[in-house]
Amino acid sequence: KEKLPHFSSHDHIFKVRDALPRRKTLTSILKAPGGLIRISMAIDTKTQVINQILITGDFFAYPKRAIFDLESLLKNSKTTSSNTKQIIRNFFAGQKPSIPGVKEDHFIQAVEEGLQKMDLLPHGFDEEDTHHLFPVSKPFAEVKKPEVLLLPYCAKEIDCDFRYQKGCEECGRCSIGDAVQMARSFNMDYLTIQNYEDLESTLYQVKGSGARAFIGSCCEPFYGKHRPDFERIGLPGILVDVERSTCYDLNQEKEAHFGRFENQTHLNLMLLKRVLEYVHG
Ligand code: SF4
Ligand code: SF4
Repeated sequence: KEKLPHFSSHDHIFKVRDALPRRKTLTSILKAPGGLIRISMAIDTKTQVINQILITGDFFAYPKRAIFDLESLLKNSKTTSSNTKQIIRNFFAGQKPSIPGVKEDHFIQAVEEGLQKMDLLPHGFDEEDTHHLFPVSKPFAEVKKPEVLLLPYCAKEIDCDFRYQKGCEECGRCSIGDAVQMARSFNMDYLTIQNYEDLESTLYQVKGSGARAFIGSCCEPFYGKHRPDFERIGLPGILVDVERSTCYDLNQEKEAHFGRFENQTHLNLMLLKRVLEYVHG
């Protein structure tokens, strides 16, 4: 049997393509067993048509042009979910590309999630904002009246007594205190998350208490990696990207997992506030 050349290669071709300009695009990321899929689309919101689409990631595809063909089929097509779904299904049925660990449903979901960000645009978010918002288990529009705000320890002041324990006394020295006050003004509880294990048990606990949804903050690489975990737990929510260098940028992902990341990130308070207004509006 002929060996598929790219499977034995370390060349993750889809990672190294020129990105579409972020300012006017909608994006999504989805982790499939075979790799991360990134979708970037320029949409004509008046005609509801996909003007341009770029599918990148670190998965392998054979033949190599399969992804380019899929992009061509989606380009200039209507943005309705039924339409993009049909295009992707027809493409897989016709071309039968080999993409280990990535199914047509993963592409359908990734494209759909990018398009769902269109729903945010009439609510005071622009395209740039939407790059920093990540859905958990449900489309943004279906996350309503969340009861809890989850805040990452990495945004706490490095010397704060609460850096390595739950809580915050709202001393005003970092963005966590502002977020706690914001939570209160929306009648929400808040919890700081001290490590990965704490995140899992907190989400299970909040879900078990009968909560509808949560709002949280984390970095994009964390969301990309742990999205399947969030979905396994199943509490719907919206995550807002943190600002400044993340533990992934600094190669301290392992330390961060156990709650020992020693850099300080910053919460995007303006965006967080707009998200809280959106979900409670
Ligand atoms: S606002 Fe809260 S988390 Fe930030 S330094 Fe003060 S007590 Fe610590
Ligand atoms: S992965 Fe690192 S930077 Fe990202 S939210 Fe967690 S501790 Fe913060």
